Amino acid sequence: MNKKIIIANWKMALTFSQTESLVKDIVDGLRNINFEKIDLVLCPSFPALPLVNKIIENSGLPIFLGSQNVFWEERGSYTGEVSPLVLKELGVSHVIIGHSERRLRLKETDEMIHKKVRVALANKLVPIVCVGETIEERDDKRKDMVIVKQVSYGVEGFNLNADDSFIIAYEPVWAIGSGQAVDPAELIKIIFTIKQRMVDIFGLEAVEKKSQIIYGGSIDSKNINNFVKKEVDGYLIGGASLNPQEFLKILKILSEV
Ligand code: PEP
Repeated sequence: MNKKIIIANWKMALTFSQTESLVKDIVDGLRNINFEKIDLVLCPSFPALPLVNKIIENSGLPIFLGSQNVFWEERGSYTGEVSPLVLKELGVSHVIIGHSERRLRLKETDEMIHKKVRVALANKLVPIVCVGETIEERDDKRKDMVIVKQVSYGVEGFNLNADDSFIIAYEPVWAIGSGQAVDPAELIKIIFTIKQRMVDIFGLEAVEKKSQIIYGGSIDSKNINNFVKKEVDGYLIGGASLNPQEFLKILKILSEV
């Protein structure tokens, strides 16, 4: 896969009307951007999915819609959860699974994440599985062990069918929203570790054809050039995607490299 994928995670940062104005600003700015080298996924909060889908459809631009979570069952007595069937109906193609904010603040476990990946694949939603160490795990030199464990839970036990895709997002917890991105040279080593584990599970051909390993954590228009490497298949962007000018700058850079 040669195109870089850029995923905007808007978390719970915006109201409905703020989401509308952000998407409109981004779509307007995207008219001058060449999509040959990039894929773009916008991940608003659940209630804003239909609105964002409509704006994307009306724009005629090849933008994908992503959700920030999914429940691991398709239907049942799970008050407050959202089914993959509903996401599909709303035009969602990608789903973020196991973001560290959910792992840490909402006590989402590797087992829950595994079940969410299963339901995503069963419903032809592209899972974006987030993995990454906390600062304590890093200081204790447990970084690689934590990442390999999270990747294993995320991908083990699944087959990738011909039309499946799979994304692993390496997002060190200490880098998210901190203004301190990982060292790009270290990132390449971590990507290699993740890829190795995925190859063990899926085989080399499936990994090369159907999976992407991306980076997230304090990416902005000033540092993005340091992360434009062949090993990095894309970027998960939080804070910088909330500012349309800043986000469009990043997209422009990535569309021209
Ligand atoms: C994220 O929320 O996944 C993220 C990468 O955020 P930020 O870009 O703000 O670090």
